[in-house]
Amino acid sequence: MKITKNARAVLERRYLTRDTHGQLTETVEGLFRRVADAIAAADLNYNSAADVLTTADRFYNMMTELDFLPNSPTLMNAGRPLGQLSACFVLPIPDSMEAIFDGVKNAALIHKSGGGTGFSFSRLRMQGASVNSTGGVASGPVSFMKVFNAATEAVKQGGTRRGANMGILRVDHPDIMSFITCKNDKNELTNFNISVGITEAFMKAVESGSPYNLIDPGTQEITGQLDAKEVFDTIVTSAWQTGEPGIIFLDRLNSNNVVPGQGEIEATNPCGEQPLLPYESCNLGSINLVNHLKLENGCYVLDTDKLAKTIHDAVHFLDNVIDANVYPLDEIERVTKLTRKIGLGVMGFADMLLKLGIPYNSHEGVALGGRIMEMVNTIGHEASMELAEIRGAFPLFEESIFKEGKPLRNATVTTIAPNGTLSIIAGVSSGIEPVFAYAYIRNVMDNTHLIEINETLKARLTDENLYSDQIMEEVAEHGTLADSSALPEALKKVFVCAHDVSPSWHVKMQAEFQKHTDNAVSKTVNFSNTATKQDVAEVYQLAYSLGCKGTTIYRDGSRDGQVLNIGKVN
Ligand code: ADP
Repeated sequence: MKITKNARAVLERRYLTRDTHGQLTETVEGLFRRVADAIAAADLNYNSAADVLTTADRFYNMMTELDFLPNSPTLMNAGRPLGQLSACFVLPIPDSMEAIFDGVKNAALIHKSGGGTGFSFSRLRMQGASVNSTGGVASGPVSFMKVFNAATEAVKQGGTRRGANMGILRVDHPDIMSFITCKNDKNELTNFNISVGITEAFMKAVESGSPYNLIDPGTQEITGQLDAKEVFDTIVTSAWQTGEPGIIFLDRLNSNNVVPGQGEIEATNPCGEQPLLPYESCNLGSINLVNHLKLENGCYVLDTDKLAKTIHDAVHFLDNVIDANVYPLDEIERVTKLTRKIGLGVMGFADMLLKLGIPYNSHEGVALGGRIMEMVNTIGHEASMELAEIRGAFPLFEESIFKEGKPLRNATVTTIAPNGTLSIIAGVSSGIEPVFAYAYIRNVMDNTHLIEINETLKARLTDENLYSDQIMEEVAEHGTLADSSALPEALKKVFVCAHDVSPSWHVKMQAEFQKHTDNAVSKTVNFSNTATKQDVAEVYQLAYSLGCKGTTIYRDGSRDGQVLNIGKVN
């Protein structure tokens, strides 16, 4: 199998099985064989004479060719005793002491197994509200988030991954101001991403410069008012300073709620791309677009036949994961199997554009993104319908918004995940992000620094007799090609990095992919260190007007220990 040194290092460190002495007990190929066999075996649930061996080989080839990879927990745990295969979970936090601490326990079990959890804290009574049974006063959502954070910190030691949480609070919760700034101290809530749940009513109030109502989550009575513009500005200032909070548009998540009868969608998984109902889980997987190009007359073009085949196999694979999964809680298994949501996405999009010679920050680049995702979505749904013919529709189909149409096996099919680890394993750009830098240092879990040079750039410069250590040193130092006087303008126009792409192009790309994605799109809008708060505010408005489901921004240098660093190759 052809994988990069970095990929091998990541797999060896965290994914390959080991014996009790810490010695590796499987090879990289052995990992993919284990996963392929375990997932293909689920076919037997529907057809006792299924040709599982052939299916397992197809899955094996798709993964070892790096055409498709399932999310990390599937790679780590399939065919092993733990058997927990999903990346994403949402747990409810009802307003009682018993229920909150049940939530802490359930989150710990999920973290131990490699999954990430999202919560809405919007149902918790506000700070200072009375507690009937004790006559005391409530400490409010932020104080309980700290309990979840501490539990995550403790589980970190023994789990398979570091543990990640998303905390969401509705913008009309009375504690919203303390929530927005709860991570301004960089030592607080380090195991949480936070997002403000924005409503349409709030956005209208921002536009008209009027106050909006704060609502008591228990009684639903109005407890007061805040100036919408001031709250919006506080969100912007905080995000400008620290990268957090993000924002999610709650009404948009719910306009795509497939089974509204099951209740409102209040939360997403940790990176925001997967809105889920309480106790739902979802497994993700990504198609490596770089591997879906073919040469025609010496030029790269999209290999649509291969892409269609990979989409079919990927949907089959991800539907099987739901059956092969060992769930951390019975309730999660029950709820997950009612809708059977899967999240198929893409990675290596930016690397693909480089090979096609199309700039990321161009109308052509955005249009191609839309065309490809439309294909993944359309063929993905067809594949799910074909599965439904054999396996039946998802159990809540008859009460879903699709009930008039052809039965679907999966209530959602597509999601764009960040692919933090999968992209390292595949050796390509993550999700739909632009190439972060053409030579950089990646700071992974235990502080190991991985140094990487973009393969496509290396090949192109070598082809054009432009490659030299000196140029690579310069590119590594700056992270971008933009400053290099030795490189031709035409090449620099295509080989753009995340910071060469203006924030508005980031948002346009996200919005275009969102048009063709059932769930949400994980995307960070990168700002230079010198960007202003006004720049951030404009991006939020643009994301809202272009139909994004949420936005995460990051201003370079605004947080210590950031995961990705522009830096010098030693
Ligand atoms: P990967 O590339 O490892 O499969 P992604 O970076 O695509 O994962 O993240 C997908 C989802 O996996 C996240 O939104 C989150 O739900 C979950 N996740 C990611 N990292 C962690 C972590 N360290 N601990 C727990 N869950 C995680």
